[in-house]
Amino acid sequence: MEQEHIKILLIEDNAGDARLIREFLVEERYVNIEWVERLSAGLDHLDREKIDALLLDLSLPDSQGLETFARIRHQNPEVPVLILTGLDDKDLALEAVRKGAQDYLVKGQVDSNLLIRAIKYAIERKKLDEKLQRTMKELEAKNQELEDYTYTVSHDLKAPLVTIQGFSELLGTQYADQLDAKAKHYLDRINQGSENLARLVSDLLELSRAGRKNREFEKHDFNEILSISIHGLEGKINEKLVEFEYQHDFPEVYCDDIRLSQVMSNLIGNAINYMGEQEKPKIILGWNQQGNMYEFWVKDNGIGIHEEDIGRIFNIFERAAESSAEGTGIGLSIVKKIIQIHGGNIQVESEFGKGSTFIFTIPIKGEAKNEQK
Ligand code: ADP
Repeated sequence: MEQEHIKILLIEDNAGDARLIREFLVEERYVNIEWVERLSAGLDHLDREKIDALLLDLSLPDSQGLETFARIRHQNPEVPVLILTGLDDKDLALEAVRKGAQDYLVKGQVDSNLLIRAIKYAIERKKLDEKLQRTMKELEAKNQELEDYTYTVSHDLKAPLVTIQGFSELLGTQYADQLDAKAKHYLDRINQGSENLARLVSDLLELSRAGRKNREFEKHDFNEILSISIHGLEGKINEKLVEFEYQHDFPEVYCDDIRLSQVMSNLIGNAINYMGEQEKPKIILGWNQQGNMYEFWVKDNGIGIHEEDIGRIFNIFERAAESSAEGTGIGLSIVKKIIQIHGGNIQVESEFGKGSTFIFTIPIKGEAKNEQK
């Protein structure tokens, strides 16, 4: 197979270094190298001609340090860049790599083989990088499409469902004396079925909204968020006589408080739903600080989760075999999305028969991923 031609631009103000680099590549007939001494000349060249890789010295007469790389990157994000650096400038070169340069080469430690290999790797890596970016964008678009679709479908299902519920209620109240036991039983089944469907539709709607950040994050007292969630679950808590243990006062967090309270309601609600036959149901709520993240947990002594189910319960509609009849299998997907838009993550540790601990993180400074509005 014929070797493809590679066009390289070298931006280097030291003539000696430039000569050496060109000599290293002289044997490689399929490599064309152009040399300029200034950043401005390099940028002009890049405007005129498409090149496959750029060899860049960061200290040039018209630009110094990371600024040199930043200007190249800004105008030519698609070009793979290899930084040429001296021994004492390695940290700077590494910083440029962190900001998107493909690699760096230390002058004086380069030979012909190393140089050509680094150039080829840089070109291939950049191609893979771009492919990955494209795939990520496609995936994001598909996800968005799916969310929009879920929203539309669940939204459209709501109206006929409300009609069914309304008429079935009318039937049950206005015609109660004309219905025999069998008819009443059938009506009960219709009501039960439509209640389940209503829960499913509202969970699906919630899920399609959960990935969007629709309110600015602000500082909120987590103690208050928690007390709202617990207040909403009071009926269940009293019915099952659940004991709560708070490890200590909670901090203030940057968040959408309504969403975070939804997370806590879901996790505590699940902890209660999946208590099983536990005689002394107990839920422990706690937190600590891990680097730049807060870590919160909800620990229960309920039925626990089999190891093989742990990996899938955060996926939509996935439920463990021991799930209650009521659930929709959507709650934890909503929770995960909400945590992710806050820039955190969620996981579970569990032992079947002993209980589960759901642990999630929230950045202390409150920077969020996925800033969709
Ligand atoms: P749902 O509760 O509606 O089924 P979720 O998405 O909230 O849906 O939970 C998914 C599944 O994860 C549940 O069906 C259950 O099997 C399991 N699960 C969630 N929380 C707990 C818990 N605290 N203890 C045991 N199992 C749990």
